[in-house]
Amino acid sequence: MQPRRVAVLGGGPGGLYAARLFKLAFPSCEVAVHEQGEPNTTFGFGVGLAAGTQRKLAAADPDTLRDLVAAGRRHDMTLRVGGHVARVRNDRLIGVARTELLAILQRHAEKAGVILNFGARRSAAELDADLVVAADGVGSATREQGPFGARIEPGRGLYLWCGAEFALDDAVFAPVRTEHGVFVTHAYPYGTGHSTFLIETDEDTWRRAGFDVTPGDTDSDEVSLQYLADAFAEQLRGHRLIGNRTRWSRFRTVHCERWSAGKTVLLGDAAHTAHFSIGSGTKLAMEDAIGLVEALRATGDRPSAFAAYEAARRPAVERLQELARRSRLWWESFPSRMHLPVERLMVAYMTRAGNVPLERFAATSPDVVSAALTQYAGTPPPADGLVDWVLDQPAAPPEDLVTIDDVVTDPWDETGDAVVARAREAREQGAPGFRFTGPGDRGAVLTRLDLAERVRLEAGGVILVAGPAALREDLAAGLVSARADLIEETA
Ligand SMILES: Cc1cc2nc3c(=O)[nH]c(=O)nc-3n(C[C@H](O)[C@H](O)[C@H](O)COP(=O)(O)OP(=O)(O)OC[C@H]3O[C@@H](n4cnc5c(N)ncnc54)[C@H](O)[C@@H]3O)c2cc1C
Repeated sequence: MQPRRVAVLGGGPGGLYAARLFKLAFPSCEVAVHEQGEPNTTFGFGVGLAAGTQRKLAAADPDTLRDLVAAGRRHDMTLRVGGHVARVRNDRLIGVARTELLAILQRHAEKAGVILNFGARRSAAELDADLVVAADGVGSATREQGPFGARIEPGRGLYLWCGAEFALDDAVFAPVRTEHGVFVTHAYPYGTGHSTFLIETDEDTWRRAGFDVTPGDTDSDEVSLQYLADAFAEQLRGHRLIGNRTRWSRFRTVHCERWSAGKTVLLGDAAHTAHFSIGSGTKLAMEDAIGLVEALRATGDRPSAFAAYEAARRPAVERLQELARRSRLWWESFPSRMHLPVERLMVAYMTRAGNVPLERFAATSPDVVSAALTQYAGTPPPADGLVDWVLDQPAAPPEDLVTIDDVVTDPWDETGDAVVARAREAREQGAPGFRFTGPGDRGAVLTRLDLAERVRLEAGGVILVAGPAALREDLAAGLVSARADLIEETA
């Protein structure tokens, strides 16, 4: 399809990148971006761009990627618990300031001939164009007012996004226990002298700390920022936490039944979001832009192009949303795992969503995995065949394990509460532990391991999880991560 006039609503990463790619693909087309903010003002601090994203951006637009990489800061990743540290090397993960990211994308859009309009809030309906890209972010009015079948799933925990004026050496995941409960930071360096601090907590802790009633009329929640600066003093090394319209929020996962209607197509956070703990929002928005322009280039008319865009992008988006959902549940229940040695906790973190197989992780971080396996088995692992070795360790199960075959989607919701209550009762009546069984598909087995972990932590006893031999790697990761004590391989 050859559009004559394209209007892009929203000058975030998705909108700006889409505008540039449109103009490069269709030079005679008029492409305009309408952004309500001013060019040099934005919310937020740094965003992470991983290796896979960089590869896709390199293929679509090497010039833009070159500038993004030059502005980024590479970092490794560390988990710090109670003075113990596990470090994972990551050669191509970079953090870029959101201001810098947007400045680069604005510059490249303008260079390609895109018209940038700032400072006025617009609506998709009023834009005069034969194709409107609604890249108006997570709060998208276009999505809310349109026939897109939107569904918003709020997270259980609360988070705030702030920054500090010094560069951490590495990305840091660190919990801190205060008199009110546990706060966890996901922090990483960006630019030359800055770091993002994303801090999350559970609702009870948040209420106990009085954050549900902190002042509502300031730009940022300074009371919380001061409290958290004291709590994370060690990580902050004497620096303060800086807000930028920083408030406690619940993460909202956006799903839409359809991404287009008439001449309007949703892109980026407007169409879908994925929990921040997998750091993929910017990646998804920019990859949507690539997918949309490719679909328009390849397909004859607008409805077919929109359908091709959605068909190409939806599977990748939904796969990441599912990873993000598992990751969110893991972080929301993180305080219950703080007793684990830090290397085992790192394995639990890496395998939390089923995305990083144990042996692949061992190949990139042999020291961490070897330490975790030694902690798990009490003896050092061999150089090869880790999965077999892990699964060979445990002893025979005790007799009279009580079977639990409940199928749940979220082990930490009320269906999980009911399983835990039953398990506690069974333990009081002398049950030695539980045998978790159920469907053999991968999603069900991963969730079963999570439910087993929760029962292990809250009811105790010996925990056996049954699962197909084809999923041995997930089952082995479950043992090392303390989600289960024993595995029963089924056909
Ligand atoms: C706490 C937190 C941490 C995150 N960390 C990461 C990370 O590490 N890595 C990562 O990749 N992503 C991260 N993200 C997500 C990332 O910020 C977003 O996914 C990304 O910015 C989405 O890009 P977008 O272009 O779709 O939307 P946005 O960046 O939200 O841009 C939308 C733009 O539209 C404008 N707009 C909205 N309505 C109108 C209107 N009516 N008229 C004109 N303009 C309008 C807004 O002003 C805004 O500039 C994080 C998000 C959060 C909340």
